[in-house]
Amino acid sequence: MTSSIVRAAVMRAPHEPITVEELPWPTLVPGSAMLRTLYSEVCGTDVHLHHGRLSGVPYPIIPGHVSVGHLTAIHGAVTDIDGMAFREGDLVTFLDVHETCGACYECLVTRQSTRCPHRKVYGITYGVNDGPLGGWADHIWMKPGVKILRIPDGVDPARFIAGGCGLVTAMHAIERGNVRLGTSVAVLGVGPVGQAAIALAALSGAYPVIAVGAPSARLDFAMRMGATHVIPLEMPAEERAAAVRAANGGRPVDVVIEVAGVPDAVVQALDLVRDGGVVVVAGQYTNAGDTVINPHTQINRKHVEIRGCWGCDYSHFHRALHLLAHQGASLPWLEAVSARYPLEQANEALAAVANRHVVKALIVP
Ligand SMILES: [Zn+2]
Ligand SMILES: [Zn+2]
Repeated sequence: MTSSIVRAAVMRAPHEPITVEELPWPTLVPGSAMLRTLYSEVCGTDVHLHHGRLSGVPYPIIPGHVSVGHLTAIHGAVTDIDGMAFREGDLVTFLDVHETCGACYECLVTRQSTRCPHRKVYGITYGVNDGPLGGWADHIWMKPGVKILRIPDGVDPARFIAGGCGLVTAMHAIERGNVRLGTSVAVLGVGPVGQAAIALAALSGAYPVIAVGAPSARLDFAMRMGATHVIPLEMPAEERAAAVRAANGGRPVDVVIEVAGVPDAVVQALDLVRDGGVVVVAGQYTNAGDTVINPHTQINRKHVEIRGCWGCDYSHFHRALHLLAHQGASLPWLEAVSARYPLEQANEALAAVANRHVVKALIVP
């Protein structure tokens, strides 16, 4: 099925209302296709985009980086990593990062592919002028070379998108933290990334898995996702630190995963981690400002490791789908999605996420 237009929710500039527009259907060269969007998610990044807090964004854009849908209008051979050809109607998702070059210093020498300067991200660093390359649209252009992944049999696409970019980001954060059997973990922040990190830490065999955050409804959800202890953010910082130690037999924890997004959370993470432990900073995706750290007491003398965590690569999507196919049904991912909105209500969806009325909202074109 081919149409002549793509209907998309367009963010023309920061702070401007989002409008539904009709865009031209792209010219499909061999190796490309269209994805008929089933769901695209609304996440905190989209709120930041609307507030103009990310640099290098080529407004106007079609937001929506993690999406799921059916392939249509396949031109030439479009294959998965095993060389198996996709067919029209296949239910898929795709790695939102594209054009990682494989030829630069970051890709080849330091092997930090998520820091490749040539990479582009659907819904974030592709603009409307590049084509229909965002998820808040009835169709998304799968450019040649985009890494497309089948949704495995038995995985409800709604369940995948309920994990969504929080799940793939958490896959990376857990990997950076080297969370293993018996690792004691504290997760600071109980938004979508925090909830997924809690679930993945628990599935990795971590104990205890301590969630620190607010409000209480999200802490209740964290317990259902696998947290063994929850600590409310309202508690004064020193009491909170004491409560984390108490949950871990009186000791500071091995690994702290910061996904709170507030600079002060990194300070708190350094206070909660044990000597020689690991702090993963994954919540500072936009520049939320500075904070004061004492390098002597909090880093040098503690012999601590602080690890940044930027973006995701194909492996995180691949493993996330594999995990959902085998473990996903045991966890209440779907409860994270509290609201679904048509394209025409993209402004309402964004406001609901910005005001934290919902953990996660979906655009259903
Ligand atoms: Zn590169
Ligand atoms: Zn996101």
